[in-house]
Amino acid sequence: MGDSTYESTSVLVVGGGLVGLSAAMFLTWRGVPTVLVEKHSGSSAHPRAIGYTTRTIELFSRIGIALPPHDDGAGPRRARVESLAGQWFEEYPWSPGGADHPEIEYSPSRGTAIAQDRLEPILRDKAIELGADVRLSTELLDVTQSDDGVIATLRQRNGHQTQMRAQYLVAADGVHSQVRETLGIGRSGQGLLAVQRSILFRAPLQEYLERGIVQFEIEQPGLSAFLTTYLDGRWVLMLSDDVDRDEDELRALIRQAIGRSDLDIELCTTGRWELAALIADQFRAGRVFLAGDAAHQLPPNRGGYGANTGIEDAHNLAWKLEAVLAGRSTPELLDTYDAERRPIAWLRHEQIFARADYKARLQTAVADVPIIDDDAMELGQLYRSAAVLDAGPELPRALRPDQWAGQPGTRAPHLRVLVGDTEGSTLDVLQRSWVLLSEDQSWQSAASRAAAELGIEITFVHIGPDVKPTEPLAFQTTYGVTPDGASLVRPDGYVAWRAVTAPTDPALALTTALGRVSCAAAQSLNA
Ligand SMILES: Cc1cc2nc3c(=O)[nH]c(=O)nc-3n(C[C@H](O)[C@H](O)[C@H](O)COP(=O)(O)OP(=O)(O)OC[C@H]3O[C@@H](n4cnc5c(N)ncnc54)[C@H](O)[C@@H]3O)c2cc1C
Repeated sequence: MGDSTYESTSVLVVGGGLVGLSAAMFLTWRGVPTVLVEKHSGSSAHPRAIGYTTRTIELFSRIGIALPPHDDGAGPRRARVESLAGQWFEEYPWSPGGADHPEIEYSPSRGTAIAQDRLEPILRDKAIELGADVRLSTELLDVTQSDDGVIATLRQRNGHQTQMRAQYLVAADGVHSQVRETLGIGRSGQGLLAVQRSILFRAPLQEYLERGIVQFEIEQPGLSAFLTTYLDGRWVLMLSDDVDRDEDELRALIRQAIGRSDLDIELCTTGRWELAALIADQFRAGRVFLAGDAAHQLPPNRGGYGANTGIEDAHNLAWKLEAVLAGRSTPELLDTYDAERRPIAWLRHEQIFARADYKARLQTAVADVPIIDDDAMELGQLYRSAAVLDAGPELPRALRPDQWAGQPGTRAPHLRVLVGDTEGSTLDVLQRSWVLLSEDQSWQSAASRAAAELGIEITFVHIGPDVKPTEPLAFQTTYGVTPDGASLVRPDGYVAWRAVTAPTDPALALTTALGRVSCAAAQSLNA
């Protein structure tokens, strides 16, 4: 590659939507040199997502993005109405799955609502602040890969072409992912359900939001549509047909949905999008990883499985890429990305069609599967892979955090703690390095020995002196360990291994476990 325009980086992210930007943020936060290319000059004028879950907010908070919570965490309320100004028939939930269990605080964070085109610039600014090289108006034209890297051909808006060599590529290039197509990766799932049209507009409709309902199923003779707001003066009317309409027809439909003809309506833009459920048959091909909609197209639902699932893909991948690029872990660690994230996409696919909202759209019946509680889907999914020990096939795919009680393969639970005089969460000390939590100080030396032997940083958190649970015994019940046990948490905040009670040789047990779950390079050298 003698071309003078040839450049190189560690990770090239293709796509500057919510998932590509998240990948760039999580990677650069870990110090990984990252270039992101986005073919457009900015965000789409037509936002799609608005709802971001507790887990997404936890991940964003950890890297310094604070978004105000929107509500009590119960999610958007919706009603079936004739029109906004007409009769309101009933309020109804998106789907069953609401929690039927004692009030437990599962997280210090709460979900939020913010339009995609408002959130993306926040993430873009953060990625740049953290050191990502974000290149707008730059399109990936082609990608090839060899054993030691990928070569991407990029074209800028002015037509100038360059080639970039990267160690790894994250394809967050959306539903129609060119990278996925180039690699010949197929997709499976329920497929296309409908082609929808949407009209984004502004109108003075604040009075209709006073009851706290933000989504409206419009049902009247000649009009079945879905009307919702981005809570910033903009509304979107979604139509389940695939018909071209001129401006007068668009305005007439909006007026019909509002039920008034006296209001000024400003048309912003229109959209056409596919309601589909398709999961890529593999999330990794060599040095290329699919993330977000490129990996899984999931219809919008109450759980916000679209962008939120993709953001957690990016988070799952970032620490693994960093560990492998730094030479601490072998590339086998990267196989755990597909092993962990593809089953989650399938679980979410299954759960969408387990719920009446989407089941009704299918031509062929799907087998009845139990509906999993929203808290379990959001905060209690189980990973089974080489990066987790003792998460066997007998375990369910998702349970609530209190039911798991610190099970390896699940997100390390939130626990209210005091650090000095400051109240916080156990989550505040996670998500950077490997963390060993125990009430027993003797694990400190075990952690030091394992770290030295494997060349992997482990932070030992002494529960009690370092961080003190606000409820006595809460650590033992929440993390499922006895006073001399310990819990090993991965850099993405998932429990990798635990010793419920102290083993005979804690240092050996920890070194062996960490060596396996981190795919430690030092371990394979010693083998
Ligand atoms: C109506 C609607 C409502 C939704 N609401 C929600 C919600 O409330 N919550 C939720 O979680 N999800 C929601 N979703 C889903 C959510 O919008 C998507 O899952 C999410 O936007 C996917 O993000 P992404 O970054 O993977 O892909 P995209 O947002 O599609 O971004 C891909 C980016 O890649 C760029 N790109 C493509 N090809 C190239 C190339 N060759 N070179 C350079 N750049 C390229 C594109 O320009 C684009 O910017 C909704 C979807 C719809 C349709």
